Amino acid sequence: MSKFVVLRKGKEESLKRFHPWIFSGAVHHIEGEPKEGDIVEVLNSEGRFIALGHWQIGSIAVRVLTFRHQKIDAEFWKKRLSSALDVRRSIGVAGTDYNNMYRLVHGEGDNLPGLIIDIYGKNAVMQAHSVGMHVCRMEIAQALKSVMGEELKAVYYKSETTLPFKASLGQENGFILGESDDNIAIENGLQFHIDWLKGQKTGFFVDQRDNRALVERYARGRKVLNMFCYTGGFSVYAMRGGAELVHSVDSSAKAVDLVNANIALNFPGDNRHKAFAEDAFRFLDQMDGQYDLVILDPPAFAKHKDALKNALRGYTKLNAKAFEKMPPGSILFTFSCSQAVNKDQFRMAVFTAAAMARRKVRILHQLHQPADHPINIYHPEGEYLKGLVLWVE
Ligand code: SAH
Repeated sequence: MSKFVVLRKGKEESLKRFHPWIFSGAVHHIEGEPKEGDIVEVLNSEGRFIALGHWQIGSIAVRVLTFRHQKIDAEFWKKRLSSALDVRRSIGVAGTDYNNMYRLVHGEGDNLPGLIIDIYGKNAVMQAHSVGMHVCRMEIAQALKSVMGEELKAVYYKSETTLPFKASLGQENGFILGESDDNIAIENGLQFHIDWLKGQKTGFFVDQRDNRALVERYARGRKVLNMFCYTGGFSVYAMRGGAELVHSVDSSAKAVDLVNANIALNFPGDNRHKAFAEDAFRFLDQMDGQYDLVILDPPAFAKHKDALKNALRGYTKLNAKAFEKMPPGSILFTFSCSQAVNKDQFRMAVFTAAAMARRKVRILHQLHQPADHPINIYHPEGEYLKGLVLWVE
């Protein structure tokens, strides 16, 4: 039986502009008693069809899957997934030996709200951020297999921490298609161990690929500090770029093991690299002024809008500490992955830090998320990663 969500009068405007979310305040009433995760038909106040989507409990009531009246079946998923794969092939991140890890599905950016799929070689790591996508997970995994064929061996489902807590699904991480223990993948010709079983996110931060390549370009002869290194992506690129030394820092001892393993995988016996398990602020306070290429890629300081003010203060404090110690002629790569902080706010926080440290600073590059993390033009909320490359005089 069909389930319906009927909107209040005048509340369909954003949907005419293809925004993929319907907020609970726009809903007049529901029909057919939808459960969280069910597919519902969205109607305007006059009963005209507007969209199909997943019903949710919370401030977002529906995540729109399509603005056409169509079946949400295996064919639907296959079409969306192959369109996502076409994009990745076209931009050269998929289907090459030089790079076999990439984001295949970036939620709303690929018209699949609530779904993330990262590819690591022949393995996919799938993450649901909505109950609707969770309900469809097996169908999606099957569709993925038929789209990728021999290129896919296993799908690992990793949604333990990303599904709404209130939904109490008790979902455990695990393989939902095939199985694999092959955990080495290649990014721009460099090898990385991917810890999708226990690692953060889907096991690796694929969103920094292009920015790492830029670090490689500038690393020659420099003394590099990679702060918040996690698996050491930036460090490995800096090594290939010919850095004189590379120091990686992360407060997690596990991360330090990962970065050491990744350096050993690509540069065995190379003693230019060292890793430290330390708090960032402590390390910056205690370090000397030797590093002339510094990377600051902290975790999201603001997970929600409420935390914005504190987050901006955090970015300022962190960047000021780096500016204070960097010798003249240094380069700073500084990032924010908080979706709640926009690029002007981030730039203002870094501007304040430069002024506090009384340094002359020039912007060389303004960075963002790569092409395999596309932003749906109707959903600007999908923009989250921003970075600045600065020349510190
Ligand atoms: N730059 C990484 C991703 C960083 S994720 C990459 O390219 O893959 C953020 C990292 O910051 C995590 O590994 C986390 O352990 C670390 N972290 C969080 N708080 C920290 C702190 N106060 N000091 C040092 N590291 C911290």
